[in-house]
Amino acid sequence: MLTANENRRADSVSDLARAGYRGITLYSAAAGQCNFDLSDNTNLWGAPPSALRALATVGPSEIARYPVAFEPALRNALADYTGVSPDMIACGCGSDDVLDSAIRAFAEPGEVLCVPDPSFSMIPVFARTNGLRPISIPLTRWLDADVDAMIETGARIIYLCSPNNPTGTAFSRKAVEQIVDRAPGLVIIDQAYVEFGGDDFIDLASSGRPVLVTRTMSKAFGLAGLRVGYGVGSPELITEVLKARGPYKVSSLGERASIAAMENDRAWVTDRVNEVIANRSRFRAELGMRGIGSLESSANFVLLPVNDCAATSRKLERGGICARPFRNLPGIGDAVRIAIGPWEMMQRCLDALEDPGKVTTTPTRNERASEERPSLGEGS
Ligand code: PMP
Repeated sequence: MLTANENRRADSVSDLARAGYRGITLYSAAAGQCNFDLSDNTNLWGAPPSALRALATVGPSEIARYPVAFEPALRNALADYTGVSPDMIACGCGSDDVLDSAIRAFAEPGEVLCVPDPSFSMIPVFARTNGLRPISIPLTRWLDADVDAMIETGARIIYLCSPNNPTGTAFSRKAVEQIVDRAPGLVIIDQAYVEFGGDDFIDLASSGRPVLVTRTMSKAFGLAGLRVGYGVGSPELITEVLKARGPYKVSSLGERASIAAMENDRAWVTDRVNEVIANRSRFRAELGMRGIGSLESSANFVLLPVNDCAATSRKLERGGICARPFRNLPGIGDAVRIAIGPWEMMQRCLDALEDPGKVTTTPTRNERASEERPSLGEGS
């Protein structure tokens, strides 16, 4: 007689997996061969020196023992950095972890999560892995959040991203405040790129409304490999996020390096951010001189609408550059996202784009992006 296990077909693992997971594919960040990887919007100058020094002095007991549960020292440093109290901060294994935990904490399976489109690609995935139904609402023609359409979904959670990935554009304070005023449930404002521009919405996290602002040490702070992110909200809201997250999600190394960077290297970060802002303007101007349009950006990357994103990516790869292609984004079409780094890297991009077989961008779309849209300014 066969046991239950022997009876199962060899391919039955996918049948055993949750039905709702079957349409979800494993995240792939496949970057091709390149000298410069400009595909993931990290700090292309590297990591803050004080963080590297702190890591070099880690002792064996710090490795052998668990960190202190719920990272009180890191929360104190983040409280000082963001200007709120430590009980208003929840950390996680990257802001991905904070977003995922908040989604789990604030909606029952079957409820709706509303996300702008295009926006951060992981959000519909987090919605589905937590049993929620993601509803995408296109950005307005000004690339702002569509307030009425988002509110009309009746979503339990509304996700906003400002500056928005992948467009790089910042949402208007008016649209964000209207959504916070009218939303029936939690509003998440993802500010992973806020150091590079756009409005800071931390004030809304203390407004008495259910708002969670998420931020990260992965971008301006140059610590993506250590996986530290955080959310800011009312103490009650933060407790719910931490319950869903669970203990020991931030490593002692990530905690130590993040504290060192915030205590000793804020000037290093500010200098790098200022270089990003200067190189972003110069890069967009140089693209413009070559007849290549790009969206105005408040982040550490720019989005170039193109005819064929695969062809443009191949062209960049031939010049040693990896960028992130996007196929047929709503209202934009094909596009390529390029992170901003030291000028040498940006010059390599320009040279690659200029190579024989010049990439032609779609004139109508570029005109719409650069001419019709009101200027949002370069941000701080
Ligand atoms: N939010 C946005 C908008 C992002 O682009 C990213 C990473 N690309 C994240 C959150 C997650 O970053 P991390 O987990 O490294 O904090």
